[in-house]
Amino acid sequence: MKSKEIIEQKYKKVSCIFCSSNNVIRRGIRKTEHRDNVQRFGCKDCNRRFSIDDGFYKMKNHEKKITLYMDLYYNGMSFRKIQEHLKAFYPKNCHYSTAYRWIAKYAVMISNLTDNLQIKSGIELQSDEMEYHRRISKNQKGREQNWFVDMMDTTTRFMVSSGYMKSRTIDNMVKVLKRGKFATGNQAKVITTD
Ligand SMILES: [Zn+2]
Repeated sequence: MKSKEIIEQKYKKVSCIFCSSNNVIRRGIRKTEHRDNVQRFGCKDCNRRFSIDDGFYKMKNHEKKITLYMDLYYNGMSFRKIQEHLKAFYPKNCHYSTAYRWIAKYAVMISNLTDNLQIKSGIELQSDEMEYHRRISKNQKGREQNWFVDMMDTTTRFMVSSGYMKSRTIDNMVKVLKRGKFATGNQAKVITTD
């Protein structure tokens, strides 16, 4: 994995935070309750221990998951596949619905940046949709079904259009398709669905 290599590289160059010595070894991992484990180090020269707060090991769990799911999404994994993935890894808790919220939120944010631009695209756009049960009251009993629909350029994996809708009507779907068509002009020739 790439990120692992980066970490390995990083810790080859660790120097002691007290005496700046490079004579440093890994001295186990400190477990944290809500965050990832933190690598600890020991200095062989001054004999002190320290951990490095670089924001990476301490990155909150959910931030890492957001990154993971956005990666899956932008690598072209469909919502359905992501859902299967999430169910396999988090069968007992609500993480998968949370992940949907993140994807919807971040994807819309990114999409809003691009809505008014003409985008260089390939010839094929792929439409994908996911059900999203929005909690409408705090006691979790009231939920309404919403939809998140997006269109992705299969060549660049860039989302050219997306929409968040309360009902999955033809009108709403067409709006998303039209926006995608507008953003890509005559470049896109084919629209496929998962
Ligand atoms: Zn030292």
